[in-house]
Amino acid sequence: ATATMAPFSTDLVDLFISVKTTRHYHHSRLPAIIATWFQFARDQTWFFTDRDDPYFQNQTNGHMINTKCSSSHNRRALCCKMSVEFDRFLASGRKWFCHFDDDNYVNVPRLLKLLDNYNPREDWYLGRPSIPAPLEIVRQGPEPSKRPQKVKFWFATGGAGFCISRALALKMIPVAGGGKFITVGDRIRLPDDVTMGYIIEHLLKKQLTVVEQFHSHLEPMKFLNRDTFHEQVSFSYSKGSRDEWNVVKIDGFDEKDDPKRFRSIHCHLFPHVANCPHR
Ligand code: UDP
Ligand code: MN
Repeated sequence: ATATMAPFSTDLVDLFISVKTTRHYHHSRLPAIIATWFQFARDQTWFFTDRDDPYFQNQTNGHMINTKCSSSHNRRALCCKMSVEFDRFLASGRKWFCHFDDDNYVNVPRLLKLLDNYNPREDWYLGRPSIPAPLEIVRQGPEPSKRPQKVKFWFATGGAGFCISRALALKMIPVAGGGKFITVGDRIRLPDDVTMGYIIEHLLKKQLTVVEQFHSHLEPMKFLNRDTFHEQVSFSYSKGSRDEWNVVKIDGFDEKDDPKRFRSIHCHLFPHVANCPHR
């Protein structure tokens, strides 16, 4: 038993984790996930992609989902994937839907601990914005005669990961279920994570709860303090111009063996796992 009791205890079985990926990234991005955090949530994590891939279907024991969405990086294709992720979560019957990108490291035990603080029977949208103020858009209402209205809302950055409780997801069904997520995206012509914020904050009037422990590569990763790594829910990386990587600063594996630092993060958080450098 743990020393402090959280109000709701979240088990792995309560979780549905979706990872958005694409055929062009399978080989460059999935191995780092499969070798690390995926091992802690093998039955919870599903990869949403755009092509059948027998090799990774095998590597993930059948957890690759071909969304049949287009494999181009356009708004419509990304909203299509999010729509399939959302519908698969609904069908799963699980308590929490957590979305991540394929360049996220997810600290699975910490994610569970975070969710312990929230009741999945209440409406929760947990994540972290990447802009300092709510997004403001101008929307032409359904009646063209009326003046366009200004709409302001927050959204959680998809590249940092976010979670939605089952109760909230059920309320989203009339507007976003059964593929309708794509329709909303088409209407406002904004990316998938923005569309999610629009649906939850503007259409349903439920507020985003900011959780600072989600991280995307829009932040400089090197400023994350290693003493707090165990508290962070997600990490990311990106490769900038030339050979500069935006990655967390951490000892561990050689940069050439672990350029994204996922294996080093994994060994730092869980020193008992196999194949970690001796310390
Ligand atoms: N992605 C996708 N289709 C594409 C390109 C990217 O589904 O054609 C996914 C990718 O797998 C990742 C997310 O979209 O999960 C963000 O892509 P990326 O990291 O390349 O770009 P970013 O927006 O973070 O700069
Ligand atoms: Mn990215």
